[in-house]
Amino acid sequence: MLTITAIKAFNDNYIWVLQQQPHTQVYVVDPGDASVVIDYLQANQLTLAGILLTHHHNDHTGGVAALQTYSHNRLRVYGPDNEKIEGITHPLHAKAKPRFTLEYLSAELQVLDVPGHTAGHIAYVVEDALFCGDTLFSGGCGRLFEGTPAQMLDSLQQLAKLPADTRVYCAHEYTLSNLKFALAVNPNNRALQDYNERAIQLRRQNKATIPSTLALERAINPFLRASDTEIVDSIKQHFSDLNHANLDELSGFTLLRQWKDNF
Ligand code: ZN
Ligand code: FE
Repeated sequence: MLTITAIKAFNDNYIWVLQQQPHTQVYVVDPGDASVVIDYLQANQLTLAGILLTHHHNDHTGGVAALQTYSHNRLRVYGPDNEKIEGITHPLHAKAKPRFTLEYLSAELQVLDVPGHTAGHIAYVVEDALFCGDTLFSGGCGRLFEGTPAQMLDSLQQLAKLPADTRVYCAHEYTLSNLKFALAVNPNNRALQDYNERAIQLRRQNKATIPSTLALERAINPFLRASDTEIVDSIKQHFSDLNHANLDELSGFTLLRQWKDNF
């Protein structure tokens, strides 16, 4: 059975650990900090077999060099071939939609090309788990640092098409602040209100709200629902100085992302 565990890093990053019992060799996703990973490996008597990277930002890649040194340069490091990342041993051509297997894991991994937050951002699907880095968050999506709104919308739609029970392992605990914005644009969404209550309880107990599921995200995440009537009305109201004669899904999404950037 594949188990997935979180290592907390920095303020709000999650470094996900993939382990196929009974193996003690594990993989980590986006290790921005090596020290917390090494502590975890030692505390649980595990060996690191490799690293999966979603994009080049330092809070996702900063630990790669030290982990490679710690592992005597035996790590397999996967990541996008079109981003500048030091230490990748197995570059992935995401556009080719590669599938591959990893030693010590029985499940196949699928790579998805999800540009928007960065130009070469990729996501990994393993069984019913999606590792989407800073593309899809619970209740939100990543900022557009390198890509266009059209790319991000396309990437999110690609992810939203995965099966409803897919568990969403994003890289940050941003849920509460995302839900604050979501409620501002979609205040009468009952599923969103309920989830906000649950998320507040979880965070009060210092528990993670992640993983989420795609079924939940489709119901509550405004960035997957930019053409929802109430959300469209909120956008028109907030940007009332603009002409909204043809507010299509992409224009709505673009304004929504802009609104959130200044929220
Ligand atoms: Zn990032
Ligand atoms: Fe990040």
